[in-house]
Amino acid sequence: MNLGELRSPQLTDRAARTLLAVPLGATEQHGPHLPLSTDTVIATQLCRRLADRIPDVVVAPPIPYGSSGEHAGFAGTLSIGQAMLTGLVVELVRSADDFAGVVLVNGHGGNAQPLREAVRTLRAEGRTVMAWAPAGRADDTHAGHTETSVLLSLEHPGVALDAAEPGVTAPLPDIIDDLRRGGVAAVSPNGVLGDPTRASADDGAAVLERWTDSLVDAVATWMAES
Ligand SMILES: [Zn+2]
Repeated sequence: MNLGELRSPQLTDRAARTLLAVPLGATEQHGPHLPLSTDTVIATQLCRRLADRIPDVVVAPPIPYGSSGEHAGFAGTLSIGQAMLTGLVVELVRSADDFAGVVLVNGHGGNAQPLREAVRTLRAEGRTVMAWAPAGRADDTHAGHTETSVLLSLEHPGVALDAAEPGVTAPLPDIIDDLRRGGVAAVSPNGVLGDPTRASADDGAAVLERWTDSLVDAVATWMAES
């Protein structure tokens, strides 16, 4: 169920036993072959699957901007920065007190740190909130095999597979210092961290299934504890 499609009275009695799942995305370059909305698409898809698997979950409209400063210099990238993202999440979750709790599903690695800070603040205030992000290989972190396969499995019309080319395939810990200093452009001229050239819809479907299982487990454990 999507929050934006519900009418307010439909939630009056239900909100207190309903979890709000919020997709956190980004609008940033994803190489020559994937759309700028890739992280938002993936986070939204994971929230929908969570709602399919756990009763009383409502999916909020996605947050399409994140902290994407490291992708500056590539056309189309927009970023609201770390502090603004932290503030946005804190205020959004504070406003969701009618709900039983909030699950923040993050599709973009650059959002992780500001999100951790937001969750720390919100929990200190006594709010019921958790954040989750899909795990991936250290040599395939951006617009590579994984993300490309997932978008193929969703039959996303924005994928241009014939434009896919390998980027830097060194594991992230090996390039993180250069990346922090000069952004993605300094380590990968085409903006890809990984190799998307062998991506497949089947691989993407398997990845989505694995991520969904992991998300459902994390939320179920958290619900049992909170
Ligand atoms: Zn991405």
